[in-house]
Amino acid sequence: MSHAFMSPPNAARFVLSNATVPAVTLTGFEASSREGLVKADIVVADGLVSDILAPGAAPAEYAKVDMKDGMVWPTFADMHTHLDKGHIWERRANPDGSFMGALDAVRADREANWSADDVHRRMEFSLRSAYAHGTGLIRTHLDSLAPQHRISFEVFSSVRDAWKDRIALQAVALFPLENMADEAFFADLLTVVRDAGGLMGGVTQMSPELDAQLDKLIRAAADNGLDIDLHVDETEDREVLTLKAIAEAVLRNGFTGKVTAGHCCSLARQDEDVARATIDLVARAGISIVSLPMCNMYLQDRHPGRTPRWRGVTLLHELAAAGVPTAVASDNTRDPFYAYGDLDPVEVFREAVRILHLDHPLDTAARVVTTSPSAILGRPDIGRIAVGSPADLVLFSARRWSEFLSRPQSDRVVLRKGKVIDRNLPDYRELDSVIGA
Ligand SMILES: [Zn+2]
Repeated sequence: MSHAFMSPPNAARFVLSNATVPAVTLTGFEASSREGLVKADIVVADGLVSDILAPGAAPAEYAKVDMKDGMVWPTFADMHTHLDKGHIWERRANPDGSFMGALDAVRADREANWSADDVHRRMEFSLRSAYAHGTGLIRTHLDSLAPQHRISFEVFSSVRDAWKDRIALQAVALFPLENMADEAFFADLLTVVRDAGGLMGGVTQMSPELDAQLDKLIRAAADNGLDIDLHVDETEDREVLTLKAIAEAVLRNGFTGKVTAGHCCSLARQDEDVARATIDLVARAGISIVSLPMCNMYLQDRHPGRTPRWRGVTLLHELAAAGVPTAVASDNTRDPFYAYGDLDPVEVFREAVRILHLDHPLDTAARVVTTSPSAILGRPDIGRIAVGSPADLVLFSARRWSEFLSRPQSDRVVLRKGKVIDRNLPDYRELDSVIGA
């Protein structure tokens, strides 16, 4: 732990010199790039990025941290998580790793254990990990079956306030769309979400009611000025393709809010012409797509005693080529939907590169955990390096993609407003009293 970059000076102004930066995360600096990486000097003054210069161009009198070509990234955006479910694995494991096993296990745990205190303590643990890894923006889905919606959104609102200077937080109400048939519940949910400044979400399922459900959801979102973020087609079943119905409903209703669809696994199981037509529709409807590669690979194509044959991820390259905003994110962490994970976007990126073949060339790949998700979440100020922006930066000793993607980057340094933060991860033992281990 003796890299020169480990200790940026405790000065009001310093320069991170000879840094390697993913060009896609840089605003207002043009230079020739090699596989999407450029060299630059980043000047930090009073907690802000005050200048971005050619390498070696910073005035000699500036305090200097020689990055020796080490990478500098902006803080990350993790646009699809489940902070309310996180870290319950030891209390409620998934017996067979299947999607149905996850649904049943989470339902049982929620009904037995999800008090405000339980949700609050697990959320805090997750956010401390995410912050230490270098994340500045998180969207979480919150299980919103009555009465949990009131408990979890109230906890979320207080946590969002407590964390507002460290991680910007957004929350989405997650529920089976059929529950909208309970008018009293749905009206109450809309009130809770609107009051919390959240988004409407839900899980779509193939059903004769689907079009009517989508119309109702979209009209309610429009009436209340809410955006929508759905869980979509998380299955290998090629008969399931609600993504098409969602795009048609957005167009049919002329909805002007933002719509995001997560997962969309079964899109990858369609014939070429069906996939193409669906992607065109998604592009026309202006829907953004987030892939959850670690969770999808864990849950999809899982059958006892049989080796999985596909990776579970959606058609991210084809969607992006069609102009659809795309990103990747963590999804679940140490709960029945995914037994592992720590809300580390470096891990998500590394695994996404492998699972989705974001490499050769990597050119703009860094966007999937930085500028793309932050733009989709309406916070383009986060996840990019620009003059005048807070010096919220993640420093790595890795200089090139091969170095960056081959190690977990545990020795990274996180600067927030130009100051080094404590990167110690919370001890799992702190959770023992929460989950009854
Ligand atoms: Zn999810």
